[in-house]
Amino acid sequence: MLPFTFRSYKRKLTLYRKSFRKFLFVTEKEPPGGINQLTKNTEPEVWKEVDCLTCANCCKKMTPTFTQQDLKRIAAHFNQTPEAFKKKWLKKDRSGDLVNKNQPCQFLNLEDNKCSIYEIRPVDCSGFPHLSKRTWSDYAYIHRQNLDYCPATFKMVEKIKLLVESGNAAKKQAK
Ligand code: SF4
Ligand code: SF4
Repeated sequence: MLPFTFRSYKRKLTLYRKSFRKFLFVTEKEPPGGINQLTKNTEPEVWKEVDCLTCANCCKKMTPTFTQQDLKRIAAHFNQTPEAFKKKWLKKDRSGDLVNKNQPCQFLNLEDNKCSIYEIRPVDCSGFPHLSKRTWSDYAYIHRQNLDYCPATFKMVEKIKLLVESGNAAKKQAK
């Protein structure tokens, strides 16, 4: 597994972003048969090839959404009231969701890319990047956004695209 560098990731994005986004648009509207099972089967393969501890790009360049439960749990951990915690670290985004004021996230240890509140981190963080959480067509628009930051999302789209296109090619040959 090669260590992640944002520069090399940007280079890969330059080459593949347009075709991956097009694939996501097309398959969002017309999901190929079996794609949801394909994503579930493919996710473990993705994690064999991506090491989040060499990346932490989501913690550096994105923000989780904090639920009220996240807020209460994390504030209590720091012996703060939810209000005090919110005032210090959070803001509302355009949708009214609670998000981090700072990037990188204040809880990221930049020395080792580890989350300093890992056990009690926001639920949004614990599932990110939600590779097979919802159906492909329900989540393709989020994959399109995450593609710009997350190598695991990139890998997932790359693998699914290859599988779908090779399946289509095989079907054409069989005709
Ligand atoms: S989830 Fe994606 S962006 Fe976050 S550390 Fe893992 S590979 Fe990097
Ligand atoms: S809370 Fe932890 S996992 Fe979530 S963004 Fe911050 S450092 Fe990353």
